[in-house]
Amino acid sequence: MVDQTLLEILRCPNCVRTTGGVLKYYREAWFICSDCNRKYPIVEDIPVMLVEEGDKWVGVAEDALPVPPPSR
Ligand SMILES: [Zn+2]
Repeated sequence: MVDQTLLEILRCPNCVRTTGGVLKYYREAWFICSDCNRKYPIVEDIPVMLVEEGDKWVGVAEDALPVPPPSR
């Protein structure tokens, strides 16, 4: 599980300064940005909040995301 406080403060690093970058917590394995549709994997309870990582998953549909995400 990811800490509840962390869930509330985490934002998409690409959008936080512009549109807000509110993230959706998906299947306890991903954060999905509601603005740019980047998807950030949570690997071993650690969210990987890197724009380059999010970029890899922009074109992948939500329900096609692997759970658990691939480890790096
Ligand atoms: Zn974003």
